[in-house]
Amino acid sequence: MKGALDIILTDPHEAGIRALLTQGAGAERSAYMLFGIAAITRDPWTQAERTRFISHAFLDLDEQDVVSASERHVTWQTDGFMRLLGRAQTEGLVPAIVHTHPSGKARFSKQDDRNEAELARTALIKGAPGLISVLIAGNGEIVIRIWLSATKPTTITRILHTGPRLKLVSQDHQEFDFLDRQARLFGDYTNSMITKFRCGIAGGGATGSAALPLLMRLGVREAVMFEKDHAEDTNLNRLHGARREDVAEKRAKTDIHCRTVAEAGLGMSLVAIDSWAGEPSTWDALKSCDVIFCCTDDHAGRLILNRFARFYGIAVIDVGLAMQRRGEQSFDLFARVSTLVPGHPCLLCGGFIDPRRAREEALKRSDPDVYEELKEEAYVLGEGDPSPAVVTFTTEAATMAVNEWLTGITGFAGPAGMLPTRMRRFHARDERFPSIESQPGCPCCASSVTLGRGDATPFLDMVT
Ligand SMILES: [Zn+2]
Ligand SMILES: [Zn+2]
Repeated sequence: MKGALDIILTDPHEAGIRALLTQGAGAERSAYMLFGIAAITRDPWTQAERTRFISHAFLDLDEQDVVSASERHVTWQTDGFMRLLGRAQTEGLVPAIVHTHPSGKARFSKQDDRNEAELARTALIKGAPGLISVLIAGNGEIVIRIWLSATKPTTITRILHTGPRLKLVSQDHQEFDFLDRQARLFGDYTNSMITKFRCGIAGGGATGSAALPLLMRLGVREAVMFEKDHAEDTNLNRLHGARREDVAEKRAKTDIHCRTVAEAGLGMSLVAIDSWAGEPSTWDALKSCDVIFCCTDDHAGRLILNRFARFYGIAVIDVGLAMQRRGEQSFDLFARVSTLVPGHPCLLCGGFIDPRRAREEALKRSDPDVYEELKEEAYVLGEGDPSPAVVTFTTEAATMAVNEWLTGITGFAGPAGMLPTRMRRFHARDERFPSIESQPGCPCCASSVTLGRGDATPFLDMVT
């Protein structure tokens, strides 16, 4: 457990914590939880080590596990706790205890300190890396700490809540002079929350280059972009920030975007990573994000981010475009935005990833010679003609994605927050909200085993 510590609470588990408040009839209630671990060797912005804990399971306490509970205290039975520790150890998770202060404050009491020190000692002896303690007060406020030793707990002040609604609680404060007009709409508190999100952008092409300056002007301070290509003349019709000279100089797209950010001088720190999102060199940076915009048209990367969202409880907002001309006066022009958060179906269930294309793209990257051979023999489909692309549509799709994230934070489109999928049809001037369900047995979004699992070997439990 190294470096700065933070917590990601996913929606279903937070609902479990909140439900305890209404169950106790005024008495304290308690439960157990398990957290996955995201160990980050190098945070892209600070270069420091970090550890994040992601909620993985909420376990209602069996009635017999509570020896006694009153308005003032709750006492734990050891059998259930030992079972929790056993499971944490087997599965490589961090055990946690949850309790309520229905009429008290969101502050740990002296009694809590004594009880928890005892439990922490047991947990550490049994090989747990620590014991997390979650406390919710009657006013709904949640505080979390972790016992890494049995003598003194560490308070975790940065908490990211993920689901269709997004919330980031942290103690760092920074005023932005240029966000006054935005604060007038969203209010200071929410406005400041927007600026604290660490944003990943997978792909620095048409949609990524449009999303980046939007995030910058919204006040986002920390962004990371994953992109390997350099600018080509065919990009100039839609790549924001690109100049003709960039093509002649074969400038990397990420260099163009870093230049855009530097020249604006609005306080954004953009880290560029010269890899496709999903490659091992990007794992640390991906795990460090609070939201990731998937602005790539590659299916292999999308397949990984689809699963990544689930394992790490980090919202992935996926953008897809389809443009084609059907006839003299007939077009098909679609922009799709899907939000991958707990409670929403994944891209596989939506049919938005072509597994065959994903396999071929992965092969093309890992073994280009074999890929070319198979293409010769027509075993792989190949890329075909370049697809059409027009800047107004790609830019609007990026705006839709960033706005969806904003509605998750601000609730500007209603308290339910982000929609699972929006499909804008430019040719029909309308927008549709297809109802997509998680397919029973989906290995990604229908299994509680994957939610908040965090680090696993192999990465994302994916065999390639
Ligand atoms: Zn207490
Ligand atoms: Zn699914």
